[in-house]
Amino acid sequence: MGKYYKYQRKLKYITVLGSTGSIGTQTLEIASEQPDKFKAVALSAGRNINLLTEQVKTHKPEVVAIEDENLIEDLKDNINNLDLDSAPLVLSGKEGINAVAAWDKADTVVTGIVGCAGLIPTMSAINAGKNIALANKETLIAAGPIVIPALKKNNSRLLPADSEHSAIFQCLQGLPNYENADFSTGEIPKGLKAIHLTASGGAFRDWAVEDLKHVTVEDATSHPNWNMGKKITVDSATLMNKGLEVIEAHYLFGTSYENIEIVIHPQSIIHSMIEMDDSSVLAQLGWPDMKLPILYAMSWPERFKTNWKRLNLSEIGKLTFKEPDEFKYPCMGLAYAAGKSSGTMPAVLNAANEMAVEQFLKEKISFQEIPTFISKACESHMENLNLSPELEDILEVDNWARLFVEQEIKKGKKYVSIG
Ligand code: MG
Repeated sequence: MGKYYKYQRKLKYITVLGSTGSIGTQTLEIASEQPDKFKAVALSAGRNINLLTEQVKTHKPEVVAIEDENLIEDLKDNINNLDLDSAPLVLSGKEGINAVAAWDKADTVVTGIVGCAGLIPTMSAINAGKNIALANKETLIAAGPIVIPALKKNNSRLLPADSEHSAIFQCLQGLPNYENADFSTGEIPKGLKAIHLTASGGAFRDWAVEDLKHVTVEDATSHPNWNMGKKITVDSATLMNKGLEVIEAHYLFGTSYENIEIVIHPQSIIHSMIEMDDSSVLAQLGWPDMKLPILYAMSWPERFKTNWKRLNLSEIGKLTFKEPDEFKYPCMGLAYAAGKSSGTMPAVLNAANEMAVEQFLKEKISFQEIPTFISKACESHMENLNLSPELEDILEVDNWARLFVEQEIKKGKKYVSIG
């Protein structure tokens, strides 16, 4: 029984946290395409009760939760009107989301909640012994020192659904000690020397640095290759997304920061590479479509047939690469520095970034001010850096960094209006 049984059983039971978002809807599309492989048994969403109702109609889960408690009655009415043979249990609020995350029947929890809000539900799922298909990178970045030991304690696995980390994970399959490497002690898979993360370069890869002054919200929320949510699209434009992925790779694979490199690859066909001690480099390729990494996180260790478009390199013609410009993308350097500081610093970086991006999307700060406020928060946290935090410490610094950035932005505006 146990893990082996879970991996080998024909139908896998899936929980989707953030089912109405970009990752959630793509996960449910996969479940619809592979009805003999996956069944969604538990769903949670923030506020979109109309889409959640549609999903209940299609997938007939056992339980659903809506984060906004004020919407529970409307959701119940919607679901009653569906006239299902057996209606799901309907929950709300943070407790409801946590109950969905730990739902007994589920084998794998796909975490598609945006930002650090995904941390507590992910911990609930880990503590309930679930395997986690991790699309919410913020959870691991903020709370790596908590999440990694909790996984071991509960015999859970993190299966990366981020495309780059899925690529690395796929390349690592079959390395001699990969299954048993204890990343929490700094052990890395045998023969692995370095990780090369590919980055599309985001919305402004072809813009001159001088032109970044004039970036609008619309410019920053249109991605050239990937179809993703707003927050992550802005993170791609600043390259903070790649910086966060460096930290994510460090926690997932135990690789030191000196051995994680970023390379700009505008076509997004190579999703990342691993470099071996003997100089061999292994890469994973595919069209830029999030469904493949999501599917692999759910199907691992197996591979399921799809009717998706096959990769055709002749059609693409050429793959190009270049070094990222540190001056153009200061967020990248901030992320490496926060990762190396370790402890609570990545949580501060992440929270400051979430707040700065939120304020940029509300047009309160400019695109180029995003790294300015993140850097201020990290600097200010230096004297309170906690190298072995508990969960409460992570939540506290997360909260502090958000308030800090918000107040700094307000201060700045006041100064401007007086001046
Ligand atoms: Mg990614």
